[in-house]
Amino acid sequence: MIVSAHSSLPVAIFVITGGAVIGSFLSMLVYRLPLILKRHWERDCREALGLPQPEPGPTFNLAWPGSHCPECQTALGLQDNIPLFGFLALRGRCRHCHARIPSRYFLIEVLTTLAAVATVAHFGLTARAGFAFLLTAGLIALSFIDSKEQILPDVITLPLLWLGLLANSAGLYTSLPSAVWGAAFAYLFLWLIFHAFRFATGKEGMGYGDFKLFAVAGAWLGWQMLPLIILLASLTGAVYGIILIVTGRLQRSTPMPFGPFLCWATWIGLFFGWPILAGYLHMAHGHL
Ligand SMILES: [Zn+2]
Repeated sequence: MIVSAHSSLPVAIFVITGGAVIGSFLSMLVYRLPLILKRHWERDCREALGLPQPEPGPTFNLAWPGSHCPECQTALGLQDNIPLFGFLALRGRCRHCHARIPSRYFLIEVLTTLAAVATVAHFGLTARAGFAFLLTAGLIALSFIDSKEQILPDVITLPLLWLGLLANSAGLYTSLPSAVWGAAFAYLFLWLIFHAFRFATGKEGMGYGDFKLFAVAGAWLGWQMLPLIILLASLTGAVYGIILIVTGRLQRSTPMPFGPFLCWATWIGLFFGWPILAGYLHMAHGHL
């Protein structure tokens, strides 16, 4: 879709503001969701073991309490809560106790804003852009949660899986059969690798969250895109791991989450998958 110069400024403001606000929500989600899930798991475990439940603490969910400093618990004022600018104005420190606010949360807001701009620039103001942005936002949240907590929560992966199938029921990115087979193949492929690896080495190299995340990629982009995504994720993951080991920041035996690499490879597949595949087929054809 071509946006005329006359309407491009309001569109740009809408996209950037929307991206920053969603980014602010994502940074809150990345911080709170693992804490909420851990409380649930603890409660379930205690119930299964017949242990007494701890005293219920103050309410803590995605909406309550409002944003506060994780160090001194002081509630954030209105001006500190503005996406992007709040962090910059405070120079990354709490107004009251001057504790450092992890720059990860600012990075999430920046990335989400850039993703909103990139999505509209790439797909225009279309339904494809809207859905692509939802997938990108989900991938950003998953990669940050996985890199910090080594979990890929079902409450994010499963809705993304259904959303991809729904989007492709209208053929937004691929045909519905390709999407359904993509999701099934992807899950099965990593499931097989996981069990073969465990059988051969006795170790677990991945988690079930990785299978579901790869199934998300299949549901959105179709089975044709799976080899590209798994190749890109494995290669970048291996290079990153080697760099960390060589620079002494990672022990050889420490597991490294695979989710962030699957997320980033899925995003590349969403934006550039077909041009990359076409280029590859063109090259392969030239060598025949
Ligand atoms: Zn503080």
